[in-house]
Amino acid sequence: MKELSQTKRRYQCMEENCSYELTGKATLLDGTYCPRCNGPIFPVEPELWQSPKNEMVREQSWQAFKESGLLWWMNMVLHTFGWAIVFDYEEKELKRVYPARVRFRGFSEDSNTDGYRKVSRYLLHNADELRQEAEQ
Ligand SMILES: [Zn+2]
Repeated sequence: MKELSQTKRRYQCMEENCSYELTGKATLLDGTYCPRCNGPIFPVEPELWQSPKNEMVREQSWQAFKESGLLWWMNMVLHTFGWAIVFDYEEKELKRVYPARVRFRGFSEDSNTDGYRKVSRYLLHNADELRQEAEQ
């Protein structure tokens, strides 16, 4: 499976008054800050999640699922029951995805911060489409 981290990505500053956009390799830009205001920058990949209007079901990549923040969100729920969905990487390449019984609960503060940002970004980019689908 091809990882997005090896391709160029579009990033956007999350500061409300800035919204500066830049493009570059994820391996160089992930975890860095806005060159204009020093605010946090995050990948913008709304096209990852868009589905054509005439398709009721569209297969998505595991990477898109993870980038949406839904992997983190689902695992927060699954941890309650002692389960998780595990992404197994080898040298940055996703090899396997599997359900697992886990003994740990919850995530680190950094993971939670990243998870909430991803889910918020997903909602920001998809709110209109989600509302339209719900009202059809
Ligand atoms: Zn900025």
